[in-house]
Amino acid sequence: MADIIQLLSNHISNQIAAGEVIQRPASAVKELMENAIDAGATDIQLVIKNYGSDLIQVIDNGKGMSATDARMSFERHATSKISKVEDLFAIRTMGFRGEALASIAAVTQVELKTRQKDKDIGTRIVIEGTEVKLQEACVTNAGTNIMVKNLFFNVPARRKFLKSPGTELRNIQDEFTRIALAYPEIAFRFWHNGSELFHLDAGSIKTRIIALLGNHYDKKLVPVEEKTDLLNISGFIGKPEAAIRTRGMQFFFVNGRFIRNTYLNHAISTAFDGLIDKTAFPFYVLFFDVDPKHVDVNVHPTKQEVKFEDERMMYSFLLATVRHALARNNIAPSLDFTLNADIQHLASVEKPQTETDRANTQNGYLFNVFSDKNQAHVIERKDSLKQWKTLYEIAKSPISVSPEDANSQHLPLNNSQPSLINTADNSFSTNTGNMLMIHGTMLATTVKSGMMLIHIKRAQERIYYERLQRRYQNKNVPSQQLLFPTSFELAPSDALLLSDILADLSRIGFEISSLGKNTYVIQGVPMDMPAGEENNIINEILDNLKHESTDAFNQRTDKILINIARRVTRYSSNLYQPEEQQALIDELFACSQPEMSTDGKKVFIMIKQDELEKMLD
Ligand code: ADP
Ligand code: MG
Repeated sequence: MADIIQLLSNHISNQIAAGEVIQRPASAVKELMENAIDAGATDIQLVIKNYGSDLIQVIDNGKGMSATDARMSFERHATSKISKVEDLFAIRTMGFRGEALASIAAVTQVELKTRQKDKDIGTRIVIEGTEVKLQEACVTNAGTNIMVKNLFFNVPARRKFLKSPGTELRNIQDEFTRIALAYPEIAFRFWHNGSELFHLDAGSIKTRIIALLGNHYDKKLVPVEEKTDLLNISGFIGKPEAAIRTRGMQFFFVNGRFIRNTYLNHAISTAFDGLIDKTAFPFYVLFFDVDPKHVDVNVHPTKQEVKFEDERMMYSFLLATVRHALARNNIAPSLDFTLNADIQHLASVEKPQTETDRANTQNGYLFNVFSDKNQAHVIERKDSLKQWKTLYEIAKSPISVSPEDANSQHLPLNNSQPSLINTADNSFSTNTGNMLMIHGTMLATTVKSGMMLIHIKRAQERIYYERLQRRYQNKNVPSQQLLFPTSFELAPSDALLLSDILADLSRIGFEISSLGKNTYVIQGVPMDMPAGEENNIINEILDNLKHESTDAFNQRTDKILINIARRVTRYSSNLYQPEEQQALIDELFACSQPEMSTDGKKVFIMIKQDELEKMLD
């Protein structure tokens, strides 16, 4: 039989490898910007057309390349950054694998112009899908100007898999933000389709945070600074009021490289214990400066993970540092404090971190509450709703039913369900005497089969959320005009996001219009929204959406509605009157999913008579 193994052509192997490095426009943006930083640039410009799929251009004033290097740079494993194995343990640059340009060239049309500062003449190279079309001398600015056109032009299958334009642009913005945060001493500009999204002058990390993330951070930042022989930490944490309910505003950099690390993130959350709500995430931008020999950046192909030689020590150090910063700023009670002693006595040092510890973190509520898995769970449970309704109808109906029927979880679904108006008619009105408010947070009431316990806040959230849903669907939007319209200015990226969701917001009663230059005015808000809350709500919605990677239309709308429902519910009345309590129950059970809160928890439970009796045995 003939031999069948052959070496893949350079072209094909490059395309395969490209898949690992360049998954989307944002990955090319990241690699090109990192190259500019590695080249020592102090000024970097990013120009994008059509969400990066048509053009990604990075212009830097770095050290440039010689003609030979310019040609070499597109070879796989061609790098100027390491030459021997030991170099791997002393990496101070962002790149070192020598794969980025080769990967980019394999799936795009590239035009590179570059010139070294001390040379008069530069080099221009045109490459299409690894094939060098042209190399010539040219006149160009000192530094490098690289244009990457038509991403995946020769891999239509991949081009098809690009996400929606909005998502790709947001991913690019995320990469840009991370890099710009890590290098406040470098000036950055970012254009998309001819309009300038960011114009960042070189400056301090604080001015960079504010310029990138918005003015409202100005008063919410607490400086962090600790130095030891082994590592330094610097940067800012947000005051407790800067905490938000989504991940994404946690920026953690190790030697200038953005990383994700659940374990270290946990250390920071722990430092905030008792200061912020359990469901919120603290804001932080922290820089770890570590001798490269103590970190392994090699573990993850896109290098968002690193491995520390001694993670537990890092954890303790970080926890102590953040606590220290909070205490120093009178946010947490000040401890009599010496950093090193504190580290020695932390549980995480004394008790080694085990796999179980880590698993616990990941199984925790914080970790899972916004995960996709959780969303799926929400959808799965939809089927059970009719059963609840039926159960409720029967439980409260004045006609006596046998306990077996009422208790059954598998009631046959009744096509002619009693109408909801009917429900209100013969409902608890005779029963209101049996309604009991428990510590202002729960409502207990008797039902035929036993008793029902209702969580008031969750019920209110559910009710308001479904009200908003109906308005959204009916496009029937009662809006209340504000006497004093409020205007506000947003960071450019937030303005972009807001313009994206304006239509959604108007369908539920917001009247918001643009005054140009990232400034907006709110003229009307949904009915029953408390006055004065409109700015906060918009900010919160933007914060929450900002780092959603999915922008599946329905899910995003849903997130907005949930957000508003939660916010509004915080101000709803306390239900002292029996009629109010009754109305809550009636409206709850008119909901399509009364049993579940907007974050997937139980809104009510039924405890059967015999269970109650058992408790008393
Ligand atoms: P790596 O960054 O891992 O070395 P790349 O494929 O990103 O690999 O780049 C290959 C080489 O090309 C780099 O090592 C560097 O010498 C050179 N290079 C790439 N971009 C630039 C740039 N903007 N300015 C100067 N040199 C660059
Ligand atoms: Mg590189």
